[in-house]
Amino acid sequence: MKKLLTQRAKRLEPSPTFALDARVKQMQKEGIPVINLGIGEPDFETPAYIKKAGIQAIEEGYTHYTQTAGMLELRQALSNKFQVDNGLVYQPSQILVGSGSKPILYCAFQVLCEKGDEVIVPVPTWSSYVEQVKLTEATPVFIHLEPPFKLRADMIEQKISPKTKVILLNTPSNPTGAIIEKEELEKIAQLAIKNNIWVVTDEMYEKIIYGGKHISIASLGKQIYEQTITINGFSKTYAMTGWRLGYAGGPQEIITHMSHLQGQLTANASSISQRGGLAALTGPKKEIEKMMREFARRRELLIQELTQIPEFAVTPPEGSFFFFIGIKKLLGGKYSSSIAWCEALLQKKHVAVIPGEAFFAPGFFRLSFAAPFEKLEEGVKKIKEFIYE
Ligand code: PLP
Repeated sequence: MKKLLTQRAKRLEPSPTFALDARVKQMQKEGIPVINLGIGEPDFETPAYIKKAGIQAIEEGYTHYTQTAGMLELRQALSNKFQVDNGLVYQPSQILVGSGSKPILYCAFQVLCEKGDEVIVPVPTWSSYVEQVKLTEATPVFIHLEPPFKLRADMIEQKISPKTKVILLNTPSNPTGAIIEKEELEKIAQLAIKNNIWVVTDEMYEKIIYGGKHISIASLGKQIYEQTITINGFSKTYAMTGWRLGYAGGPQEIITHMSHLQGQLTANASSISQRGGLAALTGPKKEIEKMMREFARRRELLIQELTQIPEFAVTPPEGSFFFFIGIKKLLGGKYSSSIAWCEALLQKKHVAVIPGEAFFAPGFFRLSFAAPFEKLEEGVKKIKEFIYE
């Protein structure tokens, strides 16, 4: 039967992070005490006031279809959020709410890209962008970044061709934690305007930031605003991965077409999750700030511990909850690749991390600190044992 599959289906790679997570969960089920520093989801519970809003939605019978683009009150709250946090004026009609930012990104690429187009993707990168671009039959064009993984406009300029349709930005980045500086965003905006290119910017980790300030490229001028789709979600900021809730703001025409596609795909995001999202945006910020402080504390621990390992090339993340660590010094002998190194770490020490190959960057691994402090301490101890034993 396999030969009946489309080329599209055959080309599609499964998510490497989810594949590893499934393996870890299976090992844990078998009684193996794996320390999971692989998956990128906050270990915190969704704050109680958000949970309560979801429960209340069910109890009140708020369990029907909503408008495809999302319930109006939520889009109004998001419109306010964009204005207050990002200096962006998106009317509720310019906002699409979907079942996570993943399907929202999918809709954006489907609406903007087709065969013959090129999408500029800075690497290391999250694999879903690449797979989603491939699904449109456009070609991803990589910019290979080296530590400290700072994207500059001149790197983009070198990759622009008459076929370039979209520049993809992800700031702060998964997996490197790097943010794109304001001056570079300004120059990137100029390039996009001059060459008539769309910008898709994924700002999922905007609130998980250590010191710097998050800037939305669409806020840098009227023209770039009209060429940008700003994507965000509730998963990381509010510890709501399982609720599946994401959103985009953008030019009316694009959002309308993305909404039409979503209407044929999933229709609206879960009505219950939308009520949770509304509570998240309008509720107290205390619990969120507490989570962010804890991420900062863990980051400090890891900077201290990981920089003591001379075999590691460590760039402290400016945002997100990931370290993307170079291990080229450890390869070539017993372990020929970061895949082999990570696999041995999992088998011998039961610590799960993700090899750089999953982000198109061999010679590195990603360590997530969306795990409890004690687990991080234990994980680092085991990593040191693995290297030095
Ligand atoms: N964008 C980035 C950069 C991510 O790291 C992730 C999740 O890992 C997502 C989007 C997807 O998030 P969501 O849960 O909203 O689909």
